[in-house]
Amino acid sequence: MKRPRVQKLTWVSTVCIVTVLFVLLGTHVAVPLSDAPSPPVPAPSPAIAPPPLPSEALPPLRAHPLPPTLARWHSPDASGDYFDQIRPTPLGYLVWFEFPVKVYIEPASSGVTPDRSQVWVQLVQQAVREWSEYLPLTLAATPAAADIQIWRTTPSLGRGRARSAETRYEFFVRRSDHAPPKIVQRLTITLRPGLADVQILAAARHELGHALGIWGHSPLETDALYYSQVRTPPPVSSRDVRTLRRIYEQPTRLGWPVP
Ligand SMILES: [Zn+2]
Repeated sequence: MKRPRVQKLTWVSTVCIVTVLFVLLGTHVAVPLSDAPSPPVPAPSPAIAPPPLPSEALPPLRAHPLPPTLARWHSPDASGDYFDQIRPTPLGYLVWFEFPVKVYIEPASSGVTPDRSQVWVQLVQQAVREWSEYLPLTLAATPAAADIQIWRTTPSLGRGRARSAETRYEFFVRRSDHAPPKIVQRLTITLRPGLADVQILAAARHELGHALGIWGHSPLETDALYYSQVRTPPPVSSRDVRTLRRIYEQPTRLGWPVP
């Protein structure tokens, strides 16, 4: 079967978890910095460039069917959600429409500290398993086969500062001989390797929440998508899942045939 052809679009946006400042006492202080998602880049005119889509308009905004995992999820409480903190992308809400979503995790290295990289991989895999309860996810063998790529590297802010993690999306037009073209997304997560185990897991959980569509932050530290690091990171909360479900009820141009 011929591989689908893809055409890269121009919108790229990033969201980070926290900036970690290293201080002399050997501890680190986590401060939110530019932690809010980057504001959506206004759509240029024409809306997609370069190269422009030849005489093609964008698909209309429509909601996809709610994934069964979210449809059958029963909320255990009435703790609300933080949907009002979520921003749509220039193409609508960042929802996945083909399942399972394929996740590539950078393999453990065979270098000087293979044990630490193995632990990192195991913790990221745990975060993937946690979110799999709410959206079907599977591991991909190669980056090219993945919808979400997770890399063991440190996003840099320069001037000696480093983020713990960052999530970035890109849009593509996917063309094939068997289906009309669609606009699809690819998410890239970079996740710092040198954190304590509990923080690696928390950061992976948090960034995966972004990659699955939660493009914003919770104001409550009891949610996995809280905007900053906390000493005792919470699991995925019912507020996180309720917010995710509301996002998946929203319209998007992603995944619909380009007219
Ligand atoms: Zn974040």
